[in-house]
Amino acid sequence: MFEKLRNVFFLIRQGKELDSIIRELQIALITSDVSVKVVKELTERIKKRVVEERSRYPGLPLSSIVSRIVYEEMKNIIGERREYPLIPHTLMLIGLYGSGKTTTAGKLALWFKKRGLRPVIVETDDRRPGAREQAKQVAERAGVDFFFVEPSRSEEINALKKRYDVVIVDTAGREENNERLEELERMKITIVPDKTLLVVPADAGQTAARHLEGLARVGIDGVIITRMDGSGKGGAALVVMKEHGVPVYFIGTGEKLEDIEPFDPDRYLQGLVGIKIDVSPKKELKKDIDLYTFHEYIQQARSMGPLDRIAAMMGIKVDIGIAEERLKKYDAIFKSMTEQERRNPDILNESRINRIARGSGTTPADVRAFIKDYKNFVRLVKKLKRGRLPWRGRFIS
Ligand code: GDP
Ligand code: MG
Repeated sequence: MFEKLRNVFFLIRQGKELDSIIRELQIALITSDVSVKVVKELTERIKKRVVEERSRYPGLPLSSIVSRIVYEEMKNIIGERREYPLIPHTLMLIGLYGSGKTTTAGKLALWFKKRGLRPVIVETDDRRPGAREQAKQVAERAGVDFFFVEPSRSEEINALKKRYDVVIVDTAGREENNERLEELERMKITIVPDKTLLVVPADAGQTAARHLEGLARVGIDGVIITRMDGSGKGGAALVVMKEHGVPVYFIGTGEKLEDIEPFDPDRYLQGLVGIKIDVSPKKELKKDIDLYTFHEYIQQARSMGPLDRIAAMMGIKVDIGIAEERLKKYDAIFKSMTEQERRNPDILNESRINRIARGSGTTPADVRAFIKDYKNFVRLVKKLKRGRLPWRGRFIS
């Protein structure tokens, strides 16, 4: 789900300009089947916030501002982690055809059973041939009791509440269609489920989102996203989360009944971002600076301009004209270094410096200048941490 965002975060780290990042983000979301309206709202907010924070924290690399804000805005929609209550209750699964409701009923039954509760599966799908038999088999696999109840007799379900801890009511798939929605509404009024959960497959797109919109009108308390193990794009799921502000409680990650897990928004988003995101910009200034940070700034500087100011900000003493040339060399030098050298530049001796110079098409003097500027940069950031902000009108000479 939202796998394309991975690429956006990658571009952000490469130090692309804001406009091209926003464009990539829009493309990523639209090709993930998120509706144009949601994409527009989301990216406009992101852009506005980035511009604001950029002037508020001019010392931070654009890449870290952008990745944090994109992360936070996605997190805003996806929400906080919410534990599903492990108490006796009745839950109803609703969703479109083939979204994974019956399978999820079995997964949840097993999940509650493993946690010491006594679940029962109640099938109410009297439309699809074989639905009853399928649900019965699922209940058998989960090792829980099973009942079939006609939707028109759903009051019978209430008697089961006393006999079981968790009454899982599976319903027939439906599309936005009044007659069937009314049936669902009547069932809700009769059973009064504690939780009505909308089952949304990760591969549902914009058309599904429209139908889900109609379905959700009966009132939902949460979402379960199925088929997270596939190549789903997540468009409909994101729209539902945004429009209803309800939590995603579980995700389905396979066809087996064990393949269900509580949804952890942070873990999920961090998986997409590829790196851990610091939530506070202040915290970010505190983190240790190393050659990687320096390189990040260089990338930034090369895509931002005006270069003289940026270079000055970084503590690099250059004339305006040669700044770009210098930064290009620095980038090449960084790329020719080994991991070990980047982590610990102090090990750079004559022969290493010569090797790096050869590898990067520069001279040993360039490599030495790179290291010197890096050290200046470290000193500058240390000053910054003590609260002096050299770019507020007082650039280093
Ligand atoms: P229903 O019509 O909503 O009851 O959907 P079903 O439970 O019958 O599931 C439809 C198909 O989706 C079945 O082939 C399931 O095995 C499959 N399915 C359900 N959940 C998942 C999941 O999390 N991952 C994968 N890969 N398949 C799933
Ligand atoms: Mg079913």
